[in-house]
Amino acid sequence: MRRRDWESPVRVLAVEDSPEDAALVRSVLTGEPGSRFELTIRDRLQAGLDHLEQEDVDIVLLDFSLPDSKGLDTFRRVNAEHPEVPIIVLTSLEDDAVAVQAVAEGAQDYLAKRYLDARLLKRSIRYALERHRSEEALRESEERYALAIRGANDGLWDWNLETGAMYLSPRWKMMLGYGIYEVGERPDDWFRKVHPDDLDELRSALQAHFEGDDEHFEHEHRMLTRGGEIRWMLTRGVAVRNEDGKVSRMAGSLTDVTARKVAEQQLVYDAFHDGLTGLANRALFIDRLGVVLSARRRQPSFRFAVLFLDLDRFKNINDSLGHSTGDKLLQDIARRIEKTLRPGDTIARLGGDEFAILLSHVEDLGDAVHVAERIQEIISTAVVISAHEVYVTASIGIALSSDETRGPEDILRDADIAMYRAKAAGRARYEVFDSEMHRHAVRLLALETELRRAIEREDFVMHYQPIVALANGRIVGFEGLVRWNHPERGLVAPGHFIGLAEETGLIVPLCWFTLRECCRQASRWQALFPQEPPLFISVNVSGKLFMQPDAVERLVAILEESRLPPSSLRLEVTENVVVDHGDEVMAKLTRLRALGVQLSIDDFGTGYSSLSYLQRFQYDSLKIDRSFVSTMGLTRDSRNIVKTILNLADVLGIGVVAEGVETEEQAIRLRQMECPLGQGYWFARPLNRDAATELIAAPPRWYGSPLGTPGVAQ
Ligand code: C2E
Ligand code: MG
Ligand code: MG
Repeated sequence: MRRRDWESPVRVLAVEDSPEDAALVRSVLTGEPGSRFELTIRDRLQAGLDHLEQEDVDIVLLDFSLPDSKGLDTFRRVNAEHPEVPIIVLTSLEDDAVAVQAVAEGAQDYLAKRYLDARLLKRSIRYALERHRSEEALRESEERYALAIRGANDGLWDWNLETGAMYLSPRWKMMLGYGIYEVGERPDDWFRKVHPDDLDELRSALQAHFEGDDEHFEHEHRMLTRGGEIRWMLTRGVAVRNEDGKVSRMAGSLTDVTARKVAEQQLVYDAFHDGLTGLANRALFIDRLGVVLSARRRQPSFRFAVLFLDLDRFKNINDSLGHSTGDKLLQDIARRIEKTLRPGDTIARLGGDEFAILLSHVEDLGDAVHVAERIQEIISTAVVISAHEVYVTASIGIALSSDETRGPEDILRDADIAMYRAKAAGRARYEVFDSEMHRHAVRLLALETELRRAIEREDFVMHYQPIVALANGRIVGFEGLVRWNHPERGLVAPGHFIGLAEETGLIVPLCWFTLRECCRQASRWQALFPQEPPLFISVNVSGKLFMQPDAVERLVAILEESRLPPSSLRLEVTENVVVDHGDEVMAKLTRLRALGVQLSIDDFGTGYSSLSYLQRFQYDSLKIDRSFVSTMGLTRDSRNIVKTILNLADVLGIGVVAEGVETEEQAIRLRQMECPLGQGYWFARPLNRDAATELIAAPPRWYGSPLGTPGVAQ
């Protein structure tokens, strides 16, 4: 836009065909010396337009009646082509009505040529220029405002509460898919487009704003577009009040917040769902439980049940068929369980292979049991996943709502406890929670806390039981057996806490403790009592130990620190360690064996293992379980089993220790069968460190008479 400063001359274009009138204008504007006007005169409209095209002009004096244009058209053309230039219309008498119309259409002023004089014309020009300048400024700021609004992407609304008129900006309409003329100008034209479910809330929020004294109004609600699509909108506004404090006008903006809303909803969804199966997660399940619990508080006859489901040996599937097959199986199971449930029920995946099911309406326990059975049935039918036929079973714990008002976590835990019972009782079954289970679980929990503390404080001692060469009664090594040095209960046998330690993972720190103690002790004995081969120490270890990434390195460090040759350490693992653990554990055991550490299979003959399974890893000796040794004198079966194991060991070229030798008769019988080593109460009970040291220093003669057969210690 052209700007002019007030010092520079005013450039006037007069379009006037009458020579007298032109002369008049000339004399008025330029007649005096020092005139601030620069005048150009053209006698045709086209000539005037051409001049406007080529030169800067501050104001046009326009005669209506020109040879090439008449009347209002003359004004309209100039104004249309040069809206930036102010126009004063010069009229003859007969043009009066037309001149008024020209002013209505934007002419700055009109002057009758008959009355034209210097003062009048100059004043008119000055006013026209000033008015024009402020109009320009206004337009400029309006444009800026409009741009800002467009930039902010907001629609605008302006509601006159006194007249009921509602201005909705084109952008406002466009945001909802409407053209400018497709929306009316009443508040209802707005409200009709608000989602019916959100309308009452919006209206009452507005009402509250009218009545309250909050400065700003903000409300999020859904609106329907012309195409029927739902968008989330943020309506903001400010109310203007009249002298009585009543709202007379309210204006504001409309912002589309759909993208943010969708992201928020996704976040909320993610927070309450399991990503793999799309089922509810623990948080949502607990929430739903809270709902039925409070329903039950209001109406005690209302009953519900919680099923806690854990797949049996799912880990094996994951390990053998891979995680993606495992994932597909979980998804498949989720869908299958879902199908057995009723609409009000909730199924959640709590993590891993654990699912929880809320049966929101049950008549009695029978209903819940029925569902559990049905779920077990549908789960146990084979599925084909990634070309594998997969069989799974599930253990289920059932907890029925009870009269004791307790929290959601408690009921879920009850079902969990019952599920553990089902696992312990042999898997692929269900158990119903009872309060005895609860008491037992509480005891177990207390024990766990105690055990944890004991491990921190190392409140344990090792006892040592000699392992004896059956041929000559020489002590060849010891098995280290841990005891809990309990402040009140005295020495507690491992049978009371090893299982719990396994379950809770506390077995890992415990194993490191026993390994350290045993290696140090064995090293001391080797120094005190050198013999060939040197005394070995046998230590029971859990498979969990070897799930630690640095297990091998740590064990090597213990051996180095205690200066015990690796070949003097025997690790006793049960068959189940071999069966239940994957390649990772096996690989570590194999590495240790390569370092010279001996591996021994404990309680041989009691586990699930098949021989082929045991061949998966190399070991140095096995221990015949004491159940076979103790019944050897009673049943032929036991004798045969012992014989078979001895033969097997012979073929494989590995050592054998017979456990639980309690009588001289058993010792002699085993010696006759050429079992090389024995261990048991008949030789010695597990002894504390000092008693064991004394035993080595002064070994008893275990056999009444010197042994007939010349024995060879291993
Ligand atoms: P295990 O490794 O088979 O240990 C032999 C168990 O049989 C010991 O029981 C021992 O006292 C007992 N025993 C020895 N001779 C006889 C006998 O002639 N007759 C009878 N009836 N029993 C005999 P303990 O010390 O109570 O240990 C029980 C189990 O606890 C062990 O069985 C082992 O599996 C586990 N355990 C013991 N100490 C440790 C340890 O330091 N770490 C780990 N991870 N497990 C351990
Ligand atoms: Mg053992
Ligand atoms: Mg054993």
